[in-house]
Amino acid sequence: MTTLKLDTVTHYINGEKVKGNNDKYGFVYSPSTGKRIAAVPYASAEEVDETVQLAKKAAAKWAKTSVGKRVEVLFKFRQLLVENTDELAQLIGKENGKTISDAKGEISRGIESVDLAIGAPQILKGEHSVNVGGDINAYSMKQPLGVVTCISPFNFPVMVPLAMSVMAVAVGNAMILKPSEKVPYSAQLISELWEKAGLPAGVWNVLNGDKDTVNAIITHSDIQAVSFVGSTKVAEIIYEVGTKHHKRVNAFGGGKNHLVIMPDADIDKAVDSFLGSAYGSASQRCMAVSVAMPVGQKTADVFTAKLKEKVENLRPGSYDDESADFGAVISAEAKQSILHSIDEAVRDGANVVVDGRNPDVEFKEGFYLGATLLDNVTPDMNVYKEEVFGPARTIVSVDSIDEAIQLINNHQYGNGVAIFTNSGRDARKFTQEIEVGMVGVNVPIPIPVGYHNFGGWKGSRLGEGQMFGPDTARFFTKTKTVSERWFDQSSTDEINFDFPSS
Ligand code: NAD
Repeated sequence: MTTLKLDTVTHYINGEKVKGNNDKYGFVYSPSTGKRIAAVPYASAEEVDETVQLAKKAAAKWAKTSVGKRVEVLFKFRQLLVENTDELAQLIGKENGKTISDAKGEISRGIESVDLAIGAPQILKGEHSVNVGGDINAYSMKQPLGVVTCISPFNFPVMVPLAMSVMAVAVGNAMILKPSEKVPYSAQLISELWEKAGLPAGVWNVLNGDKDTVNAIITHSDIQAVSFVGSTKVAEIIYEVGTKHHKRVNAFGGGKNHLVIMPDADIDKAVDSFLGSAYGSASQRCMAVSVAMPVGQKTADVFTAKLKEKVENLRPGSYDDESADFGAVISAEAKQSILHSIDEAVRDGANVVVDGRNPDVEFKEGFYLGATLLDNVTPDMNVYKEEVFGPARTIVSVDSIDEAIQLINNHQYGNGVAIFTNSGRDARKFTQEIEVGMVGVNVPIPIPVGYHNFGGWKGSRLGEGQMFGPDTARFFTKTKTVSERWFDQSSTDEINFDFPSS
């Protein structure tokens, strides 16, 4: 493993790397070794204001740049992301802990959102109606909002910031990204790539910081929209504070994603699908499957026996260990919190099928947890009710598809869900009745591709607007409708006091 020197991370403001002059800063740890690798400056309210003012100037010019010219920058940016995938993946691995192959997967999904944003000229086309009455033509246009912000989580240092922000830039806004203070390096490299692609200074800015920096951003009078991805607890704060300050807000939160296994499902395929989607990335994905829900005792017995054997063979390891199935969790605190959830579940009566609490790993100081599997879990236990963001997964058995649907619909989260079955009738019933935003049928992590919309229901998303997909363009623009008439010589002046009609 490469030894990193303790580097100071910078902000990126108006086309320049800026160290900042606030006394407040935090530290970045490499989860694989547990070692401190960087200090990260936290932007003050004054620095937030300076950045917003510069971004405002840049936004005014960028909005007037033709959409074709804006998209030219995106083409170059896309190419640079492809060329720098290896370096980006290394950074993700070092600061987030996920394996290099997993990091490359997230980069390629991030590039999908650039692909979609390259289609901005198509998406921005308005509507036009000729002669809606009295020689009047009506048309609509989508205009950018101005200065907007994205606040991102630690678990996808590249994919989520790209998914949240690239369309916003493409449709003519200036962006201030506040990445997770735990993973600031990837955002630095993304800034360099934007600069190399030719994005004008001030259109893309990165401010590092904690909750105080976020608060200064989302209460600033010149910020027009806030897009947030992170835990539901924080999503609620962002939504309340942001809307109180008259921002357009969408806030994506946590999840508790179920995988229902019907008695007629191909059990081996369900087991393999569960493994990758439940434990990949050390289970630190908002769409990670966290609950296996076999239907019927026989299904539960067969599924659990087969799964146990495979979970026992999973191995966590350093981000650059090619044989590791997944990496470390993000921090020592996260590790403690996951251990607490497991211990509490055991006290509540859960049975430990596979115990990953003391994994055998090379770097003893790293934040590792092995794959843990709990069964006899019931809906009243905290381990079922709360999101556990780490490799502790549960089995909750039910007697029927109706019971499965009812339990899932009663859950506070509604991000993703999957059903494994060979019955079209059951699949149809499930997809119709389930109250979850993204549904898979024999697909374990139903993350929509970049050109479809992404968004959970219930506690998994506050506010309207999706993260990927064409709806992102709607979130970051406002619609104006124009009614237009040109008088000619024959036009007569008429004064009319009635409500206009066609
Ligand atoms: P987090 O909520 O702790 O932090 C997210 C962002 O909010 C960070 O930039 C952080 O600096 C900021 N923040 C933290 N506390 C704050 C506060 N009190 N006030 C204002 N800002 C604050 O989330 P995380 O631990 O970085 O990420 C993991 C969570 O994100 C999980 O719950 C996961 O499910 C969720 N997530 C959801 C999606 C989705 O699409 N729904 C995608 C990825 C991750």
